[in-house]
Amino acid sequence: MKDIASSDSYPLVVIGAGAGGLVIAIGATKAGKKVLLIEKGPYGGDCTNFGCIPSKSLIASAHSAFTMKKGKELGIDSLPLITQANEALSRVRAIVAEIRGHEDPEALNKLGLETLTGPAKFEGPHTLRVNERLIYAKQIVIATGSSAFIPKITGLDKTPFLTNETIFDLKKIPESLTVIGGGPIGCELAQAFLRLGSKTSIIHSHAELLNKEEPSAQNKIAEQFKCEGMNLYLGTAVKEVSYAQDLFQILLENGQKIESHALLVCVGRKPNVSSLNLEAAGVNYSDKGIPVDAYGRTNLSHIWAVGDVIGSPFFTHWAENQARSVLTSLILPFPFKKKIDKNQSIPRVTFTDPEVASIGLTEKEASLNYNIATYTVPFSQVDRAITTGRTEGFVKIVTKKWSSKILGCTIVGERAGEMLGEVSLAMYAGIPLRKLSGLIHPYPTYNLAIRKAADLWLTQTILSIFKRKKIE
Ligand SMILES: Cc1cc2nc3c(=O)[nH]c(=O)nc-3n(C[C@H](O)[C@H](O)[C@H](O)COP(=O)(O)OP(=O)(O)OC[C@H]3O[C@@H](n4cnc5c(N)ncnc54)[C@H](O)[C@@H]3O)c2cc1C
Repeated sequence: MKDIASSDSYPLVVIGAGAGGLVIAIGATKAGKKVLLIEKGPYGGDCTNFGCIPSKSLIASAHSAFTMKKGKELGIDSLPLITQANEALSRVRAIVAEIRGHEDPEALNKLGLETLTGPAKFEGPHTLRVNERLIYAKQIVIATGSSAFIPKITGLDKTPFLTNETIFDLKKIPESLTVIGGGPIGCELAQAFLRLGSKTSIIHSHAELLNKEEPSAQNKIAEQFKCEGMNLYLGTAVKEVSYAQDLFQILLENGQKIESHALLVCVGRKPNVSSLNLEAAGVNYSDKGIPVDAYGRTNLSHIWAVGDVIGSPFFTHWAENQARSVLTSLILPFPFKKKIDKNQSIPRVTFTDPEVASIGLTEKEASLNYNIATYTVPFSQVDRAITTGRTEGFVKIVTKKWSSKILGCTIVGERAGEMLGEVSLAMYAGIPLRKLSGLIHPYPTYNLAIRKAADLWLTQTILSIFKRKKIE
């Protein structure tokens, strides 16, 4: 500290200007703290630059292409055929630039927040080096996010494969695209590129896509993908990759060979810990991330960590939720602190079409510990879905059998992500499913499927006892 100028000394330094870091840095500045925000790459982090925003922008174009193609099913003829969709990629970059404009140093400095661009490295428990500058910080928040995990595949490192950090830089929709990884990111991007004109394949080492979801949801997505012409290679891994004359040659462990113009690797995420020199500060970490206590503190009480860097699950809303708790602890007077809400179930949405939105336990997970009941309503019984011709999905709610306390929910459908909010709120507020039966849902909305699932508690679980008694 002795050698560090007072202008380089801060009560709070935040490393990483992504979803988690921005919430804390902006919030603490607004609360009157002197804050330095350090960012090595584009401000806004993964979500704005290489994740949620570009993927959902591309999905919007893909959705539009699909709707045009399906016009005939809604009684509309003579729609133009899609010949090229390269502008969709320029649109993605324009949207990213627009949103980043709200999070760049100029915008942040206007709020009174000091920013410093460059990679931060620890030199001690309270000192950080960014390029030539040495910084002293009383409190430090690590919010450095995660990066694409690159598996060890023979030949892969000698090829120009793509990750989520490079795919949105493409100037053209590739003639063909192979995606290694059938998790949420792989499924979203594979379907988007398919709809925009790429001949697309997914290779996934598990037997099912989206392997954390309900089997009925996995099947719906696989069915939809195959219907749209996607090639699925499930239950097999990639053995070898090579690249020559603008083509990838991909050899699978089951002996099959795939040729592709582009190759996207998205088999998981790894927390960004290695470049921070955490050893110099004495912060514990592993390749799974930085462990934190109930308040978000590392093993050193003045160093906090939030977001993807603490490990899975990797979601913007989870990073922001943790950040809000840590922010409260940082701005409240000592010794008040706010715990991170680890009891709340974290909702997850895969933005395929149909979307897969889920929260809490699957039927299989719940049945391990509880006496459960499940209530499923297919969208073919929901008037709104019939009117739009989108009847392929369902709502499935898992509850404790008699109390109908909600343990989990999976929705597959066009608006599944939006619909999930009602069930999340019920779980958060401790409202049992049966109570949603009495809630007036506007007609005709997709959410009526949730009321119908709640009605089933009475007919399927309660009335069925009386019926059985009568027969006896
Ligand atoms: C393709 C894709 C789609 C996604 N879609 C969704 C979605 O729909 N919904 C959802 O909830 N989540 C989604 N995610 C996940 C989401 O992007 C992350 O969970 C979220 O960005 C995590 O926020 P964070 O603050 O932890 O990290 P980030 O937002 O990644 O921010 C970390 C920042 O730290 C910086 N940094 C790293 N090391 C240093 C260093 N040494 N010095 C200075 N700065 C450093 C990085 O450059 C980065 O800007 C998606 C991810 C991907 C890849």
